[in-house]
Amino acid sequence: MEWASFTVGGFLACVLVFAASAGALGLILRRRFLGWMVARALVVGLLVLTFPPINAALFSDPKNLLIARYIATDLSIAIVGPLMATYLERGVESVWARRLLWAMAPIGLILALAAPLIASIKLFEQIHDATILLLITLAVAGLTLAVRAGSRAAAFQSCAWGMSVLVGLAAVYSKLVLGTPLPFYTQLLLVAFVLELIITAAGIGDRLMVVARERDEALSKMRVATEASSIDPLTGIANRRGLKRQFLTDGGRPRGLAVVDCDLFKRINDNFGHDTGDQVLVAVGAALGANETIFPARLGGEEFVVLLYGEDWQRDAEAARRNIPAVVARRVPDLPFPVTASAGLSAILPDDSLESAIKRADRALYAAKDAGRDRSIALTDFRRHFTRLEEVG
Ligand code: GH3
Ligand code: MG
Ligand code: MG
Repeated sequence: MEWASFTVGGFLACVLVFAASAGALGLILRRRFLGWMVARALVVGLLVLTFPPINAALFSDPKNLLIARYIATDLSIAIVGPLMATYLERGVESVWARRLLWAMAPIGLILALAAPLIASIKLFEQIHDATILLLITLAVAGLTLAVRAGSRAAAFQSCAWGMSVLVGLAAVYSKLVLGTPLPFYTQLLLVAFVLELIITAAGIGDRLMVVARERDEALSKMRVATEASSIDPLTGIANRRGLKRQFLTDGGRPRGLAVVDCDLFKRINDNFGHDTGDQVLVAVGAALGANETIFPARLGGEEFVVLLYGEDWQRDAEAARRNIPAVVARRVPDLPFPVTASAGLSAILPDDSLESAIKRADRALYAAKDAGRDRSIALTDFRRHFTRLEEVG
């Protein structure tokens, strides 16, 4: 086989492999720029079909060959615009870069549609070449603005297209100024296109890595935000959302639940101010101390819910409640009286939701308040018409 045919055949195979890979990736990732990259590769492939020696077998009429080459050239340059406009990163601020790039598409398309006029209008070739110069200028301006605005995509594509642009400019210069065709034009373009495919593929790889890194960062930010939204900012223990998450997913099924409410809390606020009240709430959160059998949460105000996982869950709840006065006295020493709390306890039944269990424990809490506060009362029998309230301790 002739060396030139081998080179062109090899290049066309590369184009097809690139187009298939970029197309498959585009379908998976749903990114429009990958579709434009496929279009650009295929049109460049068509352009190469007009190069010797393969063109002789495809085009018997030299006029048709010229028209085909013009159409492929125009389209391959026109596609650069939308390709880059969709490829630029979202953070790139240069609106002008995008506008200039998008403007290339209609101009190139009109030029391609007008290509058959080459036979009938003498001036067409000059107009065509001048317009190609304009398109190259738009591409270079758009890419430069985007690179200056910090676009990695534009930096990669500037390298990818650098040689094609230089060869194109040299060809136009040679033809318009020197009046002769550029020597080795098709060979130089072929090398430029191979470079383009390689650097464009590297650019896609780079973009995928950036996207993967951004996704990982977004996921970890979301995890931190979810974590933060489950924490009560005052006491640092779980809030209602964190309690729900623990009940439904994280902690497994608790054996029991306690609603713990500070006794006569209002008088702390009234006599010593809201800030002291807040300090007491922080101390109560600490006194309820999370460990492997106890998960405390602040439901709101001075009301806490504790999920209990141990076999002796009632005793654990009572111990936590009794811990409160000592911890508050240590942390808020200025208070002249002990701060106590009352608790309502309930076992978790198989069909319980968090809300239904809290509701039952709340009934026990009211009973504890009615019985004089500073105690725990548990609902121990749940048969339909009969519930028994028993003091724990
Ligand atoms: P009882 O023993 O019957 O529970 O009496 P109590 O005074 O504790 O009950 P009550 O529900 O009447 O009062 C609760 C008080 O808790 C009222 C409110 O001002 C206070 N409170 C609610 N949320 C906060 C908070 O975030 N910080 C402070 N400092 N006080 C709060
Ligand atoms: Mg209270
Ligand atoms: Mg209350």
